[in-house]
Amino acid sequence: MEAAAQFFVESPDVVYGPEAIEAQYEYRTTRVSREGGVLKVHPTSTRFTFRTARQVPRLGVMLVGWGGNNGSTLTAAVLANRLRLSWPTRSGRKEANYYGSLTQAGTVSLGLDAEGQEVFVPFSAVLPMVAPNDLVFDGWDISSLNLAEAMRRAKVLDWGLQEQLWPHMEALRPRPSVYIPEFIAANQSARADNLIPGSRAQQIRRDIRDFRSSAGLDKVIVLWTANTERFCEVIPGLNDTAENLLRTIELGLEVSPSTLFAVASILEGCAFLNGSPQNTLVPGALELAWQHRVFVGGDDFKSGQTKVKSVLVDFLIGSGLKTMSIVSYNHLGNNDGENLSAPLQFRSKEVSKSNVVDDMVQSNPVLYTPGEEPDHCVVIKYVPYVGDSKRALDEYTSELMLGGTNTLVLHNTCEDSLLAAPIMLDLALLTELCQRVSFCTDMDPEPQTFHPVLSLLSFLFKAPLVPPGSPVVNALFRQRSCIENILRACVGLPPQNHMLLEHKME
Ligand code: NAD
Repeated sequence: MEAAAQFFVESPDVVYGPEAIEAQYEYRTTRVSREGGVLKVHPTSTRFTFRTARQVPRLGVMLVGWGGNNGSTLTAAVLANRLRLSWPTRSGRKEANYYGSLTQAGTVSLGLDAEGQEVFVPFSAVLPMVAPNDLVFDGWDISSLNLAEAMRRAKVLDWGLQEQLWPHMEALRPRPSVYIPEFIAANQSARADNLIPGSRAQQIRRDIRDFRSSAGLDKVIVLWTANTERFCEVIPGLNDTAENLLRTIELGLEVSPSTLFAVASILEGCAFLNGSPQNTLVPGALELAWQHRVFVGGDDFKSGQTKVKSVLVDFLIGSGLKTMSIVSYNHLGNNDGENLSAPLQFRSKEVSKSNVVDDMVQSNPVLYTPGEEPDHCVVIKYVPYVGDSKRALDEYTSELMLGGTNTLVLHNTCEDSLLAAPIMLDLALLTELCQRVSFCTDMDPEPQTFHPVLSLLSFLFKAPLVPPGSPVVNALFRQRSCIENILRACVGLPPQNHMLLEHKME
């Protein structure tokens, strides 16, 4: 593969101006109507103009839970890449890279060359994107350990790498945070020694402003990678509307820490992304995001077992096999696992892991009658010894033709935080890119941006948040195609159709 970093689309529909790339794009899709038991399908076409600002900002990322395994690992990964570190291991020297990041290690096919071969470029080359090595990190944690100590506590990275990173991480210290004991497991209380006194929402807002000005940033994105909280109840009058939620905070009544961070970020005009499963983005927070036109995304990073599930079940059902039982068992020994060993926090995770096959089941009325669905069981156990090395055992049982049965068993082992960190990176980079994209249509010439509930990020979340009424897509390659094709549209390229008709003619 060529490592071509730059390309230009030569087309009368695409203009590379000094400030922006402007592309005329024909969005071809279909509308379906039901008439007397017959489905009528109408091809439609809408002309879009996409505009992507070319100036890449100086971007800051604030992590809530900065001192956790994910937070310290992501910070270490960016430093290791920026400093081009390499370190010895028992299987040879390793070099810093961004494996696992869609934008940094994934590619997009531009088309066929003169020899009929596909030409690929890195995902990050399609449109101007912030380079991960240029990101500036800051954040909060209820634990006061500096990032070097947090990295050591996490036990994720090889020692040779930790030693080299130590002097660069030592000065990074999480800001005090909001701790409301009943939202996370009681077993977390021992590390809660770094807490905001007084008015919490105001302090979070001050922290964001302070980071923005002291680091000379153009933009800040806030990402929740703190412990999984229990679900919070949506209560009319309390958190159901933006107005009620703001009043509840003003009165000092109880709001979950993650919702407090979401509200503070939105009020500061900063996108907020939720990497944990709890329902942080309650209706009041979503309405606030809508009012302030600030992007929000969630919930729960889609890193390991669920990612495989959203490929495997898509493959099984897509092939016409009737999957009837999915049993997912996990054990892990990091602090996330300890927190999830408490019933209410486990419940949040169980819910976010459970809905991931719904769209695939519903996509196939040949196999499933209305309301029919596979048995789906999720178990998580805390086993301290295995640390961040998470083990996932899955069993998928499907019905074959003529009464046959197929049982697939998977055993997946990997460092959990090394899977999550590149996803966090992609979330920040793609969200920032989306903030620079605007579009209009021939029907509505008023420029607009994407809906504040940024469903384009679905590829990266276990339980994707989508705008009201929008279908939830969990199938991984549909989610990937969505990102790829929207990025392609921004440079006037047609959707990737994989037809390769050029090679199917005489
Ligand atoms: P972790 O326990 O190592 O880190 C969480 C950090 O959050 C801790 O340092 C803790 O002190 C801090 N914290 C807790 N409450 C806080 C608050 N109110 N404000 C600020 N800091 C707070 O966990 P992790 O492995 O880094 O995972 C983080 C989150 O990401 C978890 O909710 C986990 O379920 C979720 N997640 C992780 C993965 C993965 O693959 N690692 C995948 C999906 C989701």
